[in-house]
Amino acid sequence: MVSRVIPVDPFDLVIFGGTGDLARRKILPGLFRRFCAGQMPQEARVIGAARAELGADGYRDMVREAIHEFGGDEGSDDTKLGAFLERLHYVAIDARDEGGWRDLAGLLRHRVIRAFYFSVAPSLFGDLAERLNNHGLTDNDSRIVVEKPFGRDLASARQLNGDLAAFFDESQIYRIDHYLGKETVQNLMAVRFGNMLFEPLWNSQFVDHIQITVAETVGVGGRGDYYDKSGAMRDMVQNHLMQLLCLIAMEPPARFDPDAVRDEKLKVIRALEEVEPHHIVRGQYDADPDDPENLPDYRTAVEDPKSRTESFIAMKTHIANWRWAGTPFYLRTGKRLCARSSEISIMFKDTPHSIFGEEAGRHRNVLSIRLQPNEGIQLGVTIKEPGPGGMRLIDVPLDMTFADALGPSGAENVDAYERLVMDVIRGNQTLFMRGDEVEAAWAWTDPLIEGWTNRGDVPKPYDSHSAGPDAAMQLMRRDGREWREVTP
Ligand code: NAP
Repeated sequence: MVSRVIPVDPFDLVIFGGTGDLARRKILPGLFRRFCAGQMPQEARVIGAARAELGADGYRDMVREAIHEFGGDEGSDDTKLGAFLERLHYVAIDARDEGGWRDLAGLLRHRVIRAFYFSVAPSLFGDLAERLNNHGLTDNDSRIVVEKPFGRDLASARQLNGDLAAFFDESQIYRIDHYLGKETVQNLMAVRFGNMLFEPLWNSQFVDHIQITVAETVGVGGRGDYYDKSGAMRDMVQNHLMQLLCLIAMEPPARFDPDAVRDEKLKVIRALEEVEPHHIVRGQYDADPDDPENLPDYRTAVEDPKSRTESFIAMKTHIANWRWAGTPFYLRTGKRLCARSSEISIMFKDTPHSIFGEEAGRHRNVLSIRLQPNEGIQLGVTIKEPGPGGMRLIDVPLDMTFADALGPSGAENVDAYERLVMDVIRGNQTLFMRGDEVEAAWAWTDPLIEGWTNRGDVPKPYDSHSAGPDAAMQLMRRDGREWREVTP
């Protein structure tokens, strides 16, 4: 199957922080792949901006190296890379200073879409917004893109929203959560709302519980300083896991348009119940016994022997509405776990009565939506084990792994950033978080963090490359349930 590529309208995309890690690893390689796919029109231009005095050639050299390293297979095609680099420009600019803004004004063209990607620390968002406005670089159709973390609590998120709202309308602000750009996440909506099969069963009458796991094998690495101020709750649950939960739990929107979808997500967040303290397990990883020098324990990695920040969190929460009353949602995420895996599992209830008897084996239908690795959707169904010997039941997967179902090009590995940046140019906000959504997510998160801080809770240690602290297993077992195995 050959996927259709529709070129977007001509644009000038300015990447503030265009020399940073995110720009080099994700944004620029993503743009290059869209260029190779034919999605960037002739007139599209990308302008890197940062304080370093690089010049256009110096910038192109830096981007060439970055694309060689992070651009995938296409990154080795020097002809295409040369053509892409010609679209690149650079201005030396300080967000907190007046220098460079006139140069930027001189580069921007009229009658093309202007998008400004704030790939810098959030503390610079307000300065950038103000200077863009003061120098008259934006119009009503200009877009700005901002990255996580969008605040560290409700007050700071409100402040950021206010800083942006002073100069931009909400319809111009694109808050990235790259989980929403994943193919499978959009497929989740297609499966839910494009088929009759699932929707009648998608409620507490038929769903026993839901598990959302985002497991990483890596530790905090060189980001210890940043991570220790944040922790798994702020870094992962408030945004990525919350977004996944919303897509699973939301009501069907009337249309697949940005505000209809985001209105429904917001209702889910507002219906989330506060989590009981004994339904939260936080953990910190121990050193890898085989390589403690390179893979030290969490507190050593963040250089704070008394740190109480969690590198793992598991919790049980409920959504107080008609559809989900009584169905628990179990969320779990952590670092230095046994496999890198992101999966949502819809665990359906057992059949009310087994006509085959208990010894035939009873199985539960599970719809698992796998975000990484091996993106795909699998439905576990029960069938008869083939062969003679009576009625024995086994579980088999009805598999929608994209690579198998659609062939190699159908499963084309479009990185989330590629899709999201193109959505910005198309002016489609469906896969971006709205300001009120982000604030509602913090309003749910804040009291939980405040609760464990005030109680002085200490995270539980867990073995490196395990499935997390034993208490997280107990959280499930107390309810007569088990976590799905974390598999690569
Ligand atoms: P980074 O590697 O530290 O890069 C920061 C960029 O901002 C550099 O280009 C830097 O260049 C520029 N910069 C710093 N101060 C500036 C100023 N006053 N005026 C203009 N430019 C300035 O950071 P990053 O990892 O790319 O992250 C950027 C943002 O994305 C952060 O908010 C981060 O939390 C978020 N994010 C990053 C990732 C990731 O994978 N890296 C993932 C999700 C979110 P100069 O020093 O030359 O000015």
